[in-house]
This record gives sequence, C-alpha cells and structure tokens, in this order.
Amino acid sequence: ELTHVPLSVEGIGKSYPRSPDAVRDLSLRVDPGQVVGLLGPNGAGKTTLLRIVLGLSRPEEGCVRVFGRGIAPGAPVLSRVGGLVESPGLLPHLTGLENLRSHWEATGRPLEQARLDEVVRIAALGEFANHKVSTYGPGMRQRVALAQAMLGMPDLLVLDEPMNALDPAHTQRMREVLREYASTGRSVLLSSHLLDEVEKTCTHVVVLREGRRVAGGTTEELIAADSITAFHVDQP
Ligand code: ATP
Repeated sequence: ELTHVPLSVEGIGKSYPRSPDAVRDLSLRVDPGQVVGLLGPNGAGKTTLLRIVLGLSRPEEGCVRVFGRGIAPGAPVLSRVGGLVESPGLLPHLTGLENLRSHWEATGRPLEQARLDEVVRIAALGEFANHKVSTYGPGMRQRVALAQAMLGMPDLLVLDEPMNALDPAHTQRMREVLREYASTGRSVLLSSHLLDEVEKTCTHVVVLREGRRVAGGTTEELIAADSITAFHVDQP
C-alpha cells in the first residue's frame, strides 16, 4: 500500500446525462513536494476530477487513493486532505476571521492562535480580516477561502482555480504561497485554464481536454516539447 503517495488516481470515469465523457479513463499521481496543475479549457473535466478527489462525487470507474487509502463519498474527509472547490460558503454577516473560526469549529479540534495568525498572514488578509465578508470583493473572498482551506495544514491541498478573481499582485503572491507550501514536503493539486498561470506555479502539469488526459509531465518537459501549447488552452 503506497501510504506515502498523497494521491493516486487510476482510470477514473464519470459521466453526466448531458456529458457522457465528463472524465474518461483518467490517471494521475501526485507525489510529496509537487504542485500539480490540471490545465484545460472550460468543460475539460477539471472540477469534476477535483470533486471526486475530495470525495464529493463518486466516479463510475477507476479508483482514487489518498495516502494509500481508497476514498468513499460521504465518509469523513481525511484530515490530511483539504480543499476548496466551488464558491466557498462564507457567511457574509461575519468577519473574515470569524468565518475562519466558525469553519474550524466544525472539526471539533482546538484552533491554535499561532496557526490562525499564520494563515491570515499567508493569505494576506491584513486588517480586512476584521471586516464583514459582505464588504469584500471577489479577490478578498477568494483569499479568505484559501486561508480556510489551509487552516488544517493538509498534506494534500486541493484547489479549484485558486487564482480566479485575484489581481496580478495577489496572483504572484498566491504562486509563492503554494510553492512554499509544497516545499515543506506537502503537495498541491490545482486547476487552471490559463497556461501562463500553470507554467509559473506548478512543478508538474496534466493537460485535460474533453475529459481525457492528453499530456502530462514536469512543467519543463512539457514546455520543451511544446506539448502544452499544442493543445487548445485559453491564453491570458
Ligand atoms: P469549468 O472551468 O467550466 O468548471 P471544468 O474543466 O472544471 O470546466 P467540469 O466542470 O468538470 O469542467 O465539466 C466537465 C463536463 O461535465 C462539462 O460538460 C459539464 O457540463 C459537465 N458537468 C460537470 N458537473 C456537472 C453536474 N453536476 N451535472 C451535470 N453535468 C456536469
């Protein structure tokens, strides 16, 4: 049992009534210290795959192992995995900090102040952490959601389009945060439809198109082989 492998996905298939090939025969692996980017245009199957990895949706075929263990939808999410898929359910009448605290309460574990301070710093929430979420713009909401996903310091951090809604300065910062996060031996799996974003952020890339994996490898390998640009991916 490969208990040291954060994520192993083998031959996943998922269909929806109107999208029989939402994800088809998809395999990938995430090793410790990697930032793996799922790159593909809208509808390529990125969100579908991330939902399956987080146990929010069940594949019809194939298997997903997180640290060597199969995952079952509905089962308690492994504390070693944390993620952010879809717009976060932030409570608008609470402040960013209050949202983080109330989200954490659901785990039933104590929250260390030092940990809270650290994610507030990492996500660059600043003094706005004490303002009500209803006053936040999309970028700030996105950063609170990131802080929420990082609070438990999951060994595998799963993020759907984490740079969405961020301005260039915060995008740059997010890149550094994610690479630093993985440099301690943790892993990140993220999705993006922007080639540039993935090139600058990820150590490894899996290119998806119409639910299938069409290329994969280290970012350098794919750039050298020109195999990223060979597939239709949105340019910034
Ligand atoms: P986007 O960036 O637009 O979310 P994506 O690469 O994440 O793109 P998915 O959202 O995984 O792609 O969608 C893959 C296919 O599956 C699409 O054809 C989509 O319409 C379909 N699909 C995804 N989720 C559902 C759902 N809950 N019900 C029905 N069809 C779905």
